[in-house]
Amino acid sequence: MIPGSFDYHRPTTVEGAVALLQKLGEDALPLAGGHSLIPMMKTRLAAPDHLVDLGAVEGLRQIDHVGNEVIIGAMVTQHAVIHSSQLADLVPLMRETALVIADPQIRYKGTIGGNCANGDPGNDMPALMQCLNARYTLTGLSGTREVAARDFYFGAYDTALEPGEILVSVSIPVPPLGHGYGYEKLKRKVGDYATAAAAVVITIEGGTCTSASIGLTNVSETPLWAQEAAQILLGTTLDEATVAKAVAAAEAITNPASDMRGPSEYRTKMAGIMLRRALERAKTRAKG
Ligand code: FAD
Repeated sequence: MIPGSFDYHRPTTVEGAVALLQKLGEDALPLAGGHSLIPMMKTRLAAPDHLVDLGAVEGLRQIDHVGNEVIIGAMVTQHAVIHSSQLADLVPLMRETALVIADPQIRYKGTIGGNCANGDPGNDMPALMQCLNARYTLTGLSGTREVAARDFYFGAYDTALEPGEILVSVSIPVPPLGHGYGYEKLKRKVGDYATAAAAVVITIEGGTCTSASIGLTNVSETPLWAQEAAQILLGTTLDEATVAKAVAAAEAITNPASDMRGPSEYRTKMAGIMLRRALERAKTRAKG
């Protein structure tokens, strides 16, 4: 399948990209790695008249550690995330999650910005960003603003991005030293999107869980931050009864579609199982 015709633009600055998107209006879309957008154009689910390629835009490919945050440029690829020793040290859950996205070829081109901005509930990074309490920096003609990942997703392909805005970076608070973490994803085969997946970050002090955050992938129209489920874990030893209660609370907020990955009820149960596994892994990794 061949996409419809379009004009191609290759700005070199964020300001240039934003100005182009504003000028060209709703018929223009930013292009990052192209591994969500181009397949959609091939199937005519998207038919932009203009593509504004962010590939040559300066300043979008760096990973910086500033204060207690890691700031990741929108054009940093999933491949670069996997191979960043800085991220492996500071936010190892990023690497664990990037490794289960698609396959090496796609990860070589697919970007953090594209994965987070896309609004596809099947993307793995958004629930992780909610779990990590990341913020997205968005730039448009009227300036720059920040939106929490937990407030960014309204529905499938419906996000807080205004027309003409681009996501320039993602800021992640560095989790405490010795935190436990896990990303568990059920997929039918290598390269598939999640049937269900769960991201977990916890801290344990003196055997007691002192903080917890949980994100769920592809079990609703948006990624889900399972706030109540995480709350249940606090002040406990993550004993079996507590975990069962938290899993039930997480399952209760899911609303997956029945599709080729399975009926809705099955995918909800799989979300619970992925959460249970991610919690077990996080617990074995947590120091304290
Ligand atoms: P693009 O495809 O270029 O863009 C995606 C959308 O975001 C477009 O609407 C574009 O206009 C917009 N956009 C891009 N960058 C920005 C920006 N900086 N600011 C504003 N808007 C922007 N992903 C997963 O998470 N998990 C998977 O398991 C998975 N499996 C896949 C399997 C296959 C076979 C394929 C083809 C893709 C798969 N993907 C998966 C998607 C892949 O990770 C994409 O690369 C990613 O979703 C989008 O990133 P991109 O850089 O390619 O963005």
